[in-house]
Amino acid sequence: MLLCDFHIHTKYSDGSVELKRVIDIFGQAGFDVIAITDHVVNGDSMIGKLAYKFRLTVTEDNFNYYMENIRYEAERAWNKYEMLVIPGVEISKNYISSDKSAHMLILDIKEFIPACESYETIFLEAKKQDAIVVACHPHNIKGELRNTLYLWNNREKYEKYIDAWEIANRDDVFSVVSLRKYPYIANSDFHKPVHLYSWKTLLNCEKTVSSVKSCIRNNRGVAITLFRG
Ligand code: ZN
Ligand code: ZN
Repeated sequence: MLLCDFHIHTKYSDGSVELKRVIDIFGQAGFDVIAITDHVVNGDSMIGKLAYKFRLTVTEDNFNYYMENIRYEAERAWNKYEMLVIPGVEISKNYISSDKSAHMLILDIKEFIPACESYETIFLEAKKQDAIVVACHPHNIKGELRNTLYLWNNREKYEKYIDAWEIANRDDVFSVVSLRKYPYIANSDFHKPVHLYSWKTLLNCEKTVSSVKSCIRNNRGVAITLFRG
């Protein structure tokens, strides 16, 4: 099975490690498939404005440069580690209220999607780009000041747009996802090297972007594992 992590941040947003080094960390650890998913933050809230001020977000202006750099590193990762690297973002709608906030991964993104658009617009645009939509850390995390509960609280309305839910994120398991029998994956939400040791996804499919995407969509041959190196 392919060892995968679909939720990884770099210095393009609030990660502490440069993209190139992130690739080498995962390549040397023996991963088969990873996705780079830096934040694209909404600019229409106080928290969002701070993210722009401190450059903790990919923007419309540097999106093409971000994608180019990922493609360059993806080629290097394939040649050096036979590791597949998928370009993505984490659309991050951040508000003071946990009930209003939501984060979603867009995997195999092609064009920039602004985070202040409506949920429908974002999901339909992702679909148009044939990208995978993943609802991130969809339930309460113990000790977290702000949670991202909007998608879970509105799941009946949005479940048709969501290809998979994070059943586990770093050290946390969201058992509610399995209670609803939703399609799932598990990710590290990597921000620093210690986050390598966390929940991961195992996929039983070929190591190509299209096979990985259909494996997640069909959600067969998917397992999760707590990676401890
Ligand atoms: Zn997040
Ligand atoms: Zn994240």
